[in-house]
Amino acid sequence: MKAYDFLIIGGGIFGLSAAIELAKRKYRVGLLNPDSLPHHLAASTDVSKIVRMEYGTDREYFRMAERSIGRWHEWNELLGEELYHEVGMLMLCRDRWEAARQPFEYSSYQQLQAHGYASEVLDAQALQQRFPAVNSQTYPHAHFNPRAGWVESGRVIEKLAAYGRSLGVEIHEGQTAEGFVIEKNRLQAVKTREGKSYPCGHAIVAAGAHTPYLLPELQPYMKATGHPVFWLKPRAPGLFQVPKLSVFTADIAHTGWYGFPWHPKQGIVKIAKHTDGMALHPDQDDRQITDAEVAEMRDFLAKSFPLLADAPLVYTRRCLYTDTLDGHFWIDQHPLVAGLSVSTGGSGHGMKMGPVLGEMTADMAEGKSHEFSARYRWRELGEKTPQAEEARFVNRKT
Ligand SMILES: Cc1cc2nc3c(=O)[nH]c(=O)nc-3n(C[C@H](O)[C@H](O)[C@H](O)COP(=O)(O)OP(=O)(O)OC[C@H]3O[C@@H](n4cnc5c(N)ncnc54)[C@H](O)[C@@H]3O)c2cc1C
Repeated sequence: MKAYDFLIIGGGIFGLSAAIELAKRKYRVGLLNPDSLPHHLAASTDVSKIVRMEYGTDREYFRMAERSIGRWHEWNELLGEELYHEVGMLMLCRDRWEAARQPFEYSSYQQLQAHGYASEVLDAQALQQRFPAVNSQTYPHAHFNPRAGWVESGRVIEKLAAYGRSLGVEIHEGQTAEGFVIEKNRLQAVKTREGKSYPCGHAIVAAGAHTPYLLPELQPYMKATGHPVFWLKPRAPGLFQVPKLSVFTADIAHTGWYGFPWHPKQGIVKIAKHTDGMALHPDQDDRQITDAEVAEMRDFLAKSFPLLADAPLVYTRRCLYTDTLDGHFWIDQHPLVAGLSVSTGGSGHGMKMGPVLGEMTADMAEGKSHEFSARYRWRELGEKTPQAEEARFVNRKT
């Protein structure tokens, strides 16, 4: 078998975007993934993911997301389907609209203002008129930014795989990387559980939550954590449809709760939580959602969206973050093995950056630095390392 210049391990958004970028740079690119793409258990495989520039004081993620939003529009054109829906984002605030009270929301607003984005601050009355499903007694203040939305992530993976193939990427479905052939600290080939060996000049491990199991030297710095997702079927969908509802965060830095408007293809409203999550093994541990988690979700809805509080729960899922201890992505070459590198660490917020991740990974693999590369390099992290992603409700904060 002729060796690949680059062999990508994993066909989620980190792997596929890298494969496409490297194929565009005229390399011979292969990609391995178990079963078929999009893989049903992959983090990128879902009906919706939020795309936001709201990152509090974090200017780099703001700029990365800003660039990504521009490119999501281009990808809608390129892929011939509207997969990114720019419906806006509503940040609900339980407290006064002040920096001290709502730091994440207020600094996100300041960042948008500073970059010339027109957004609105809503008081309870304006919120009630514009977004009547929201309980404005619980959230007396809110902020609406029209330059945000959601992306049909699983469908994006499907379309990107087809686009990658059209550029010459050889996607090997049903192949699970299991080991590396290394001679004199240089990678020679990747071996699969299915008994195959793929020679390559360079392998990029983008296996999501499985990455620290393929490369155990990463286990001190990242782990798989499970996070609940709920699909509810509103009895009166009208109030949950755009423009009466957009994607939203509900005092997210203090609660973790966020959600989506009524999904036009699935006919549901999706609610989820961006918090610590539970550490688990991607293959061995049970992913069932507990009754206690459902009760907590119902309690949140009763206070926030009373008309949804007793809506039928039609689907639940525990989806996995590849969670670095600081919440930043991990995109770098292996320090000890030449021809081996890593692109992972989405930590619950990587999908939106898909249109930029590919070039970040390709530049890294070519040994170049990218505008957004320094803080995603191989780094020393410890249990005391604070979580840096400001929207996330966690016990360890900066
Ligand atoms: C509940 C939840 C909600 C989220 N919400 C958002 C959001 O609103 N906005 C946002 O931007 N991000 C969000 N994210 C984060 C985002 O989904 C991830 O950061 C991103 O999808 C990770 O992509 P990935 O390519 O690293 O991993 P995955 O998408 O998991 O892809 C990894 C791929 O590697 C394959 N693989 C695994 N092991 C092997 C192996 N041994 N050999 C070959 N292939 C292998 C898998 O089958 C899979 O296809 C959320 C994540 C979760 C879990």
